[in-house]
Amino acid sequence: MQIITRHFINGEFVQSHGSIVAEVRNPFNNVIIGRVTLGDTVDAERAVAAAKAAFPAWSQTTLEERKAWLQKLADALTDRLHDLTAACIAEFGGLTGFSAYAMSQARDFFVLAQETLKPENFEQVVNQATVTRVPLGVAALLTPWNGNPWFICGKAASALAAGCTVVIKPSELSALEAQVLMEAFHAAGLPAGVINLVNGRGEQVGNTYTRSPDVQKISFTGSTRVGKMINRDATETMKRVTLELGGKSPTVIMADADVDGAVRFALTVGLNNTGSACIAGTRILVPEHRAEEFKAAFKTRMQMLRAGDPADPATTIQPMITANHWQRVQDYIQTGIDEGAELITGGLGKPAGLEAGNFVKPTLFANVRNDMAIAQEEIFGPVLAMITYRDEAEAVAIANDIEYGLHAYIYGADLERARSIANRLQAGRVMINEMVDDPRAPFGGFKMSGFGREFGVAGMQAFTEPRAVFG
Ligand code: NAD
Repeated sequence: MQIITRHFINGEFVQSHGSIVAEVRNPFNNVIIGRVTLGDTVDAERAVAAAKAAFPAWSQTTLEERKAWLQKLADALTDRLHDLTAACIAEFGGLTGFSAYAMSQARDFFVLAQETLKPENFEQVVNQATVTRVPLGVAALLTPWNGNPWFICGKAASALAAGCTVVIKPSELSALEAQVLMEAFHAAGLPAGVINLVNGRGEQVGNTYTRSPDVQKISFTGSTRVGKMINRDATETMKRVTLELGGKSPTVIMADADVDGAVRFALTVGLNNTGSACIAGTRILVPEHRAEEFKAAFKTRMQMLRAGDPADPATTIQPMITANHWQRVQDYIQTGIDEGAELITGGLGKPAGLEAGNFVKPTLFANVRNDMAIAQEEIFGPVLAMITYRDEAEAVAIANDIEYGLHAYIYGADLERARSIANRLQAGRVMINEMVDDPRAPFGGFKMSGFGREFGVAGMQAFTEPRAVFG
């Protein structure tokens, strides 16, 4: 049992002013594994004040100095990778492979951000002007629970590289992971106030950040519902905003696809984090004349999936983060049944023998119409919707007929055709025949999946504005 009562503010661990205590449960069995004291407005204001005071000096550091600090952060995280991975498994229920990979990539963000620190990314001559990228000031980083350190480190690396100081608010469901991060930040020894982290809820800590006149930039990853509220608040003080929001991504299986490869690919991308991933490909578009073949193949392969202890490397289906989230996913399965979709495998209830945890049976619905709730709304669990199409034009139309536009996937033999489909999809990233994780290429969404891009040079420059000097 871990007890967390302090935040990381101004280079020190500071006792929480807020006094509400939240439980951290292991979603595998709902045993309480931690208690975290949530911060309040006072804690958040202290963090903002520290970041504001640290900004003038940090923003004046040279590119070489910032590179060295980013490397110190990477080194400090390397020392804690084992603990970070263990915390991700214990409180998110992340599978071992995902957790180890995501946590090492969290560290790598601090290495990759150094590549953006080239003079040409900060200064250019444009006609008569010298255009300089100026860091915005204090950046508030707000993150969700599904692999939280990955989000925090991606955002922090870009913000610090740009010359901003940061105030972080992780999801209140990720306190154990946040604690390891705070300890690593402390060990890295950056100047006081450059990085601050306060545990707490959105309504207290989050709102204090997003409404503060001393915060100039918000980088938010989370639901579309909260993203809209944050964007409204940000307007009052004209903050720059990057929003990485929800998704309901299509996987287009082309008419020439081999069934085995297509099913494996669709399940890899559709059951990413057991569906608790913004980028999960949970709408599977198959050619109408091959529907029966795909139903049978998906059923066989999904029944081979193994729910169980996330710490066991043989497990392929993880629990939902909380009992409430489990119920939400159950409600969607009931909705699918009520809407008249055909239940191919899975369904209501928990897999036998796993009643103590928040496990959902991997579920596939076929004969789904694109206007059904299970085709349109983000479920964030292992619930897949198979939709048929008659020709390529209809596949593209169905894929785009949704409010989200984060990711899309295509599987098929003819690469040229696949690329031509990709160019017609409204999605920030399209992956053809493979799941690629490239943290240098831009990441972000269209439509209600948000705006702005993270990663690489574009991600770093999102924490700056240009200033043109003439003469
Ligand atoms: P959420 O929107 O409920 O919360 C995200 C963060 O915002 C949390 O830290 C939360 O405490 C905070 N928050 C809540 N209310 C706030 C407010 N009023 N002001 C400021 N902050 C507030 O999302 P979640 O349930 O933690 O995560 C799941 C959602 O995140 C899904 O919709 C998923 O698609 C999305 N997501 C998107 C991406 C992406 O890159 N596009 C990645 C992962 C998750």
